[in-house]
Amino acid sequence: MGGQIPENLQKKLTERLTYYEDLGIRLFYRDRRSSENLPTGLAQQSAAALPSSPTTLREEPTLPKTYRKLELQKAVPVPPARISPLPLPTSPGPSLFDAADKIVDDTLLRIREDLGECTRCKLHRHRQTIVFGDGNPKAELVFVGEGPGADEDAQGLPFVGRAGRLLTQMIEAMGLQRKDVYICNVVKCRPPENRTPEEDEITTCSPFLLRQLEVISPKVIVCLGAVAAKTLLQTNRGISQFRGQWLDYRQSKLMATYHPAYLLRNPNAKGEVWKDLQKVMTLLGLPGRKGKPS
Ligand code: SF4
Repeated sequence: MGGQIPENLQKKLTERLTYYEDLGIRLFYRDRRSSENLPTGLAQQSAAALPSSPTTLREEPTLPKTYRKLELQKAVPVPPARISPLPLPTSPGPSLFDAADKIVDDTLLRIREDLGECTRCKLHRHRQTIVFGDGNPKAELVFVGEGPGADEDAQGLPFVGRAGRLLTQMIEAMGLQRKDVYICNVVKCRPPENRTPEEDEITTCSPFLLRQLEVISPKVIVCLGAVAAKTLLQTNRGISQFRGQWLDYRQSKLMATYHPAYLLRNPNAKGEVWKDLQKVMTLLGLPGRKGKPS
């Protein structure tokens, strides 16, 4: 009995490892020596301390030190995310980027397969369709929004409603077409009443976004709105403090700007967004079309 992991803890560990496997992380090791020496009482205490569902990669481990040896093995070393010009305040806890670092030969198809008919967070309850992403899998420019709305939920495509039509106009004003870029969201299922996705939903779904970005590896990522920017930059700082500035996101340049839905409510902000997109055009060497989007 002394060297055995209690059944309920084993079940919870299995759930968590399955979750990591769904994210494409398949290499694990266990420190047999430390777990075999774990006293039964401590093991039961560990079981009680383990979170009930495997929903987050960001939370601090709550297991006693002896169980923390169950770590993900690094397959490919990738430099950590770097944000410039000034470091932004980041959320505490291990980085979500750790998940994207460990996947070798990943593809968008494999990510979609791993996502499956996902029920990992409560957003699955009201969705009609998972909105995975759409566009050129080798795009130099990726737009990341917040989450699907009603039209997107019905059609299974990102940015196809009113805000989507405005985004399309902006893309065309840059001298591109939608098929030239890739468009996706932080969460893949529509939040009820189009509310902002909650932290647990973002934490659960965003590893799939990070994998998409890792596979596409675009030159430029444009974050549409605060949720996308805060998720990728791992910051709590308001978007107005860094909107329109070039930042580094791993191997890509990142520009945060306002969400098209915000522009529908605040048309005066269109000029600011157009300035941001002109910076993107300059960096990508795009000639653009005459005039800004109406
Ligand atoms: S939002 Fe993401 S994690 Fe939540 S159910 Fe949909 S696909 Fe799964």
